[in-house]
Order: sequence, then C-alpha cells, then structure tokens
Amino acid sequence: LSAAARRVLEEIDEQNVDFLRLQFTDILGTVKNVSIPATQAEKAFTEGIYFDGSSIEGYVRIQESDMRLTPDPSTFAVLPWRDHDDGTASARLICDVMNTSTGEPFVGDPRGVLKGAIDRAAEMGYDINAAPEPEFFLFEQAEDGSATTVTNDAGGYFDLAPKDLASDVRRDIIYGLEEMGFDIEASHHEVAEGQHEINFTYDDALTTADNVATFRAVVRAIAAEHDLHATFMPKPIARVNGSGMHTHLSLFSGGENAFHDPDDEFDLSGTAKQFLAGILEHAPAITAICNPTVNSYKRLVPGYEAPVYIAWSDRNRSSLIRKPAARTPAASRVELRSPDPSCNPYLALAVMIHAGLEGIERDLAVPDPVRENIYEFNAERRAEHGIETLPTTLSQSLDALEADSVVTDALGEHVTEKFLEAKRSEVMDYRVSVSEWEKERYLETF
Ligand code: GLN
Ligand code: MG
Ligand code: MG
Ligand code: MG
Repeated sequence: LSAAARRVLEEIDEQNVDFLRLQFTDILGTVKNVSIPATQAEKAFTEGIYFDGSSIEGYVRIQESDMRLTPDPSTFAVLPWRDHDDGTASARLICDVMNTSTGEPFVGDPRGVLKGAIDRAAEMGYDINAAPEPEFFLFEQAEDGSATTVTNDAGGYFDLAPKDLASDVRRDIIYGLEEMGFDIEASHHEVAEGQHEINFTYDDALTTADNVATFRAVVRAIAAEHDLHATFMPKPIARVNGSGMHTHLSLFSGGENAFHDPDDEFDLSGTAKQFLAGILEHAPAITAICNPTVNSYKRLVPGYEAPVYIAWSDRNRSSLIRKPAARTPAASRVELRSPDPSCNPYLALAVMIHAGLEGIERDLAVPDPVRENIYEFNAERRAEHGIETLPTTLSQSLDALEADSVVTDALGEHVTEKFLEAKRSEVMDYRVSVSEWEKERYLETF
C-alpha cells in the first residue's frame, strides 16, 4: 500500500467514514458512483473494485463489460452535505478505470484521455496549469421538486446584498467547497438574474478536471438543500447571457512559467503564442468537445459576452482567446472563452492541451490580435482580418471534429466513435422535435 493510500485509511478511521463513493465519469461527463463500505477501502487500493461497465454511457460492449476502478488516494474527500445523525460520514475517491482483460487503463476513461495529454506535455518538458471559471444559474423548484427557470433574486453583475438574495446559498456552497479542499478565490453574481460564478485556484490539469466534476456535484447538492435547482445548462433563458466556463491555461517548465516573456508587448513568450495558434487552428473541432450540447450553440451568438469568432486579443471579450492582464510572471496565461459548463472537463482539457502542444511542435505562427469589438464587424471586415467563425450548430462542430485528426487522436478511437455516435443521435432527436418558437412564429402565419 502506498503512503498516500495508508493516509486515506487513517483518515477514514479518524473521520468515522462508513461509506466510500468511488467516482468516475462517462464520456458525456456525467459523474458515476459505485458505493462501497469503508471496510473495503484497503481492498479497493490493492485489488481495485470490479464493476459492470456495460450500463455506462459510451463505455464498453456487453461482451466485454468487466471494468476495474482504481482509486486515486490524492482525491480523498469527506462529503460535506451528508451529515449523518449517527456521527458517521461518507467520503469520495476519484478513480481511474482499468480494463480487466488487459490490465491497462481503459481507453474509454476520460480521465485516462486527459492523462495522455498531460504525459505528452511532460515528454515535451511541460507541466500544465489550468483554472476554470464555471458559471451557473440558481432556479426555484416547482412544488413537485422539478426545476423551473424562475430566479430567486434580481441582482445584476457584482451587485451586493440586499439585492443579491442568493448570496446565502452561494456562501453555503463556498463553505461546502472549502470543506472538500477547494481554495475559493472569488465569487460573484453574474450578469444575468439568478446567475453566479465561483472561481477556485488554478491547479495541475488533472486536479482541475477533477475539481470541475466535484464542483458541479457540490453546487447542485447544496442548492438542493435550499430548495433551489443549480443548472450548468449553457443557455437556460433565451436572450439573456448564458453560462460559460472560461478556461485559463499556462505551461510551466522547471518551475518557471514558459508562457511569460517580460520583453513581449503582451507578456507572452513564443511558446505561449505557438500554443495559442494551435488552439486557434483546431478551434472548430475543439468546439464539439467544449460545447457538446444542442443548447451550447444558443450561447455562442453575438451580443452576450460569449465568443463567436476565431481570434485572440489582449483586451476585448468578444474574441475566442483573451490574454488576461497578469500581475506576476507566474500569472501569464491564455484564457479560452468558448467552453461551457456542460462539457466533460477531462476531454475538454485534453483537446485544448493537445491542440496547443501541436502548435508548439509545428511552430505555428500566431495571427495578429484583434482589439476591436468583433461583434460589430461585418463579413467584409472579418474577411480582411482573416477571422473565421466558430461552428454555429452541434452538427457542424461534430463534422469539424470528425475531420480533425489532431483532435480525434487526442480523444482516441474509442472515445471519438462513442462521442460522435451519442452526439449525432442527440442532434437527430433535436431535429425531429418542434420548438415553442416555431409554433409561435408559424402556426397561425401559414
Ligand atoms: N456569461 C458569459 C459567457 O457566456 C461570460 C461573462 C463574463 O464572465 N464576463 O461566456
Ligand atoms: Mg470570471
Ligand atoms: Mg464570468
Ligand atoms: Mg473570464
């Protein structure tokens, strides 16, 4: 048993943990749990826990359904919202999924896919730091407990109490996150009514992806304790700002920020610019992973602070990539503004990292930054600047994904195939449905 695993066994004892949730995610980013009595913890570390993968989205075919979960001891955390009356607690451990027939990491495990990207960076001499900015809405529940789109507050951006009635809930959410080991940097009311953002400290890419998965679960669970529904749906209300998950990235090499250059006009090193160029080049395919729902494309429209055009800038927020002002050399980074919180954080980080590393390996040249508000450009001015548009539908981005071998290689054959299959069927399901908008617009007109 490793020292870290032994430490977990001690913690289980000290904190009176009786049940362990072994956590992993499916290809679509949904968190799955297998619950085991804490008495099984040692066995989980030494032998792993076997489960039937055939019922998990995109996992395996029925005839090869045996999977094994190997818990990562560094992810141990006691769950804050499960205060048992008898003084016992539940804890979770995030797991890697292994293929029992080969003994190798399972190719369909999104966490394994991200580890592949991290390994590639390590071979090139880099550690990756990542920080997400997840946004979400809090809505009232209907009497039967189902979610509505009625907000419980009427606060605007950065408004303070007493208007921001949701701050009580947000405070409880923050306490819950802190109990689970999060280092919360800031939280604020977002632009839209009922919309919030909580920022936590950057970390290595794997920890950050784990954190996003945990964050969504904690926010939903604590909101539910207040009889509210927290949603990470990208655009729950028409004609109102949607929820994004801006993602900040930087590469470190030997403890130094490889993205920083004090002599550059933007503070960005050549490496940072190549990385940025790689992301711009693969942006259409990346969109399929970072914006994976039909609804994601209702957010990516002009006028709501969400990116629409494939460009970068050191100031304006209408571009896909922004170079935020950095107060210290360690803070030089790039911010990708397209991801939304409905994405699978493991796959999203994996494709961004691979695309960026590709840019470094191929020494891609970065285009000039665009400093004007691109929402106000017409097609002609965009053409002058060579600015392309992000895919406008899920269907378009799936086509772009299928055609981009850098991004499909990043995902691997198994994930690519299962992802495309699931998402194409989602697109078809949407196509055969008829929306309220269509009925209002056409029913009596024709
Ligand atoms: N909600 C906006 C989006 O959809 C972002 C707003 C902001 O953080 N400035 O990305
Ligand atoms: Mg922010
Ligand atoms: Mg924000
Ligand atoms: Mg931001």
